[in-house]
Amino acid sequence: MAKYIFVTGGVVSALGKGIAAASLGQLLKSRGLRVVLQKFDPYLNVDPGTMSPYQHGEVYVLEDGAECDLDLGHYERFTDTALSQINNLTSGVVYETILQRERKGEYLGRTVQVIPHVTDEIKRRIALPAEQDPEIDVILTEIGGTVGDIESLPFLEAIRQFRLEQPPEDTLSMHLTLVPYIKAAGEIKTKPTQHSVRELRSIGIQPDILICRAEMPLADEARAKIALFCNVPKDYVINAPDAQSIYEVPLNFHAQNMDELVCRRLRIEAPQADIAQWERMVEIILNPPDSVKIAIVGKYVELKDAYKSIIESFVHAGIPNRCHVEHVWVDSESLEGRDVGDGCMAAAFKDCHGILVPGGFGDRGIQGKVNAVRWARLKDIPYFGICLGMQVAMIEIGRDLAGLDMANSSEFDPTCPHPVIDLMLEQRKITDMGGTMRLGAYPCLLQEGSLVADCYGTLEISERHRHRYEVNNKYRAHFEKAGVVFSGLSPDGTLVEMIELPGHPFFVGCQFHPELKSRPNRPHPLFNRFVEAALVHQGGVRTVEAQEAR
Ligand code: GLN
Repeated sequence: MAKYIFVTGGVVSALGKGIAAASLGQLLKSRGLRVVLQKFDPYLNVDPGTMSPYQHGEVYVLEDGAECDLDLGHYERFTDTALSQINNLTSGVVYETILQRERKGEYLGRTVQVIPHVTDEIKRRIALPAEQDPEIDVILTEIGGTVGDIESLPFLEAIRQFRLEQPPEDTLSMHLTLVPYIKAAGEIKTKPTQHSVRELRSIGIQPDILICRAEMPLADEARAKIALFCNVPKDYVINAPDAQSIYEVPLNFHAQNMDELVCRRLRIEAPQADIAQWERMVEIILNPPDSVKIAIVGKYVELKDAYKSIIESFVHAGIPNRCHVEHVWVDSESLEGRDVGDGCMAAAFKDCHGILVPGGFGDRGIQGKVNAVRWARLKDIPYFGICLGMQVAMIEIGRDLAGLDMANSSEFDPTCPHPVIDLMLEQRKITDMGGTMRLGAYPCLLQEGSLVADCYGTLEISERHRHRYEVNNKYRAHFEKAGVVFSGLSPDGTLVEMIELPGHPFFVGCQFHPELKSRPNRPHPLFNRFVEAALVHQGGVRTVEAQEAR
């Protein structure tokens, strides 16, 4: 029988609830338990796929093609478990399901209401992973937003009911709150936590564990005060001070006995957590002997959450390369109208030993990205293009090497004479925007002897996608003549998945999103090799570990 942990947040958002949930998940998994994490978001969009990164940060894509909240990325990275569509629920999906049932007449004669219909559906979804896989030991369900939001009420009510219906030792409520430090007074304040817990209790949920987010660990008296006022034993008031790396958080929790306390409360018998490997990994992340600077050229540079998985992939790739990967954010619009002879390009990429162009949509900043590709290609700087980053590489090479004047993507210029990137055939008739891209994992075959085959160490790979446009096969021969190798293709050979430029130290583009499959314990081979190439460009020495990791 599965045990259930509910994770809620109070006081403010952006406290790192997802990281806290993922960290507990990591610890429970290290105790040999089978853990699944899920996120319930109270907003009405069916999924975040149609939201701007400004609203929601990165859209994380799962194997099955589900477009998800970025916390699912943390869950997968911390527990190294592949999640599925059922692990991200939104109010939009709840209402969509109920309204479809209502239209079919399944509620015939009854009034459809938030209680019991919405809450029943939420309760069904809480337990669904255990129904599908009876081997699961623990299901952690994180509720998006903060306690007190109107939108989250049905979710909290469903949790209250769920807890009432289960034996007390089968469920646990973990609440994350902020304990602010008031500089002028020189002290921390526990009142917001007290209010937040009071709000939760007024809904009928008594938290079992409090995670106190603060700049510094709290003094014992502060924890005792919180324990007393919030009706939680002091041991169960856990410090969560700001960490240098998110990967430290499971270790901080473990040092406070958190996984043991959770197991005790849930009456789970499990061996001690085996965290030795995680500790070694964090040690390198915190004390890397080397460092290298990589430029990320995008249009959401002011919002780092838009590129969350890419940033994490660099942290992972830094582990075998024994280096810290520093990011230099370059706003692609600032590169518009610049060219290689222009001192501005040199200034923008000063001290950078690798250039990455990530995924993106729409034509804003495109010419700047094309210019960045040109700079990397002509200056022999390692270049890694992901999705749109591969498409702009094709545009640049098309214009400059393949003699395709005004080559472009039909996404940016529908009437361009040479649409080297064009809408995929099956995309042409699609009019709905939600969930209709080419999404999720697809197999890809690599060309023997290519750089990417060497990176992966295999010729058959599977990677996750999220795009509508692709390389236009009509121009493949032009590019091959110009020196481009289409080193990754769909198994039937019809879709270009990867390109590379032999002769260049590292020039690789991929149509998929490798960042979605990088894990701290299994850094992605492309990021690995790209960081290694950047170190070589910088004059660094390749480490033994980097070689072994390949
Ligand atoms: N806009 C491009 C497409 O739809 C690239 C998408 C992406 O980078 N994720 O094909």
